[in-house]
Amino acid sequence: MEVILAKNYGFCFGVRRAVDLLENELGRTNPVYTFGPLIHNQQFVDKMAEKGAKIVNELEDVKERSIVISRAHGLEKEIIEGLKNKKVTIIDGVCPFVNLVHKKALELESDGFQTIIIGEKDHPEVKAAASYIKNPLIIENSEEAKKIPNFERIGIVVQTTQSQQNVIDIVSALIENIKDIRIFNTRCSATEERQNAAVELAKIVDKMVIIGGKHSGNTKRLYQLCFEVKPSIHIETANELEKDEFKNINKVGITAGASTPQYIIDEVIETLKTF
Ligand code: SF4
Repeated sequence: MEVILAKNYGFCFGVRRAVDLLENELGRTNPVYTFGPLIHNQQFVDKMAEKGAKIVNELEDVKERSIVISRAHGLEKEIIEGLKNKKVTIIDGVCPFVNLVHKKALELESDGFQTIIIGEKDHPEVKAAASYIKNPLIIENSEEAKKIPNFERIGIVVQTTQSQQNVIDIVSALIENIKDIRIFNTRCSATEERQNAAVELAKIVDKMVIIGGKHSGNTKRLYQLCFEVKPSIHIETANELEKDEFKNINKVGITAGASTPQYIIDEVIETLKTF
């Protein structure tokens, strides 16, 4: 059976950077705190916990003068200020593309625009970006865009993982009523590149294997997209592979979510090669 990897898969630039920072730090000191899991992959989180990474969800659980790595999609301003008050050393794991969203939102605010964030209200990245500006409006879809008041001028930034089509739909709805619109398209292409590569690969293989956390949103989306093209399975580790499921399969395609570590992908490839 031939095993083919998607052109783009696995860790994106921002996740790789945050993971490297954590691994480097764990080599020198411990414990190191992360606010919430650094990435949505339980196997990785468990492995890091064994080496001394502690996940916390509340400021009160962080010891004074300890070390905290901020996650790739950012931390809310109140949390950063709370950590500074505790004299904590903060290692900046925030992806530069996410920092750009904060920077552009602040620019728009200081230029007098009503700032709008296109994104999911409950997503940590959006919550973090919103916390840095005084009066942000968060819009998830074009229906919501149609209902916003007639502001004189609005400035828009975009959650990095938004789809281009949703941004187009929202801006089209806003343009109906608002004349002065400035937009910084702060989308990052990593998600879309992985999705496009997965679909392209699905077209030329008999079956797709999608590797990543069962709770990872971007992994689930990869699975849905592949499933529309070819029979597909979503697994977290090689242990879930069943030899019988690959009977009569000549070519199998592999992709993985942006939080899936390379060692887990390698184990899946090695197992598939033995079938
Ligand atoms: S998806 Fe893009 S913005 Fe988000 S962490 Fe990865 S590289 Fe950075």
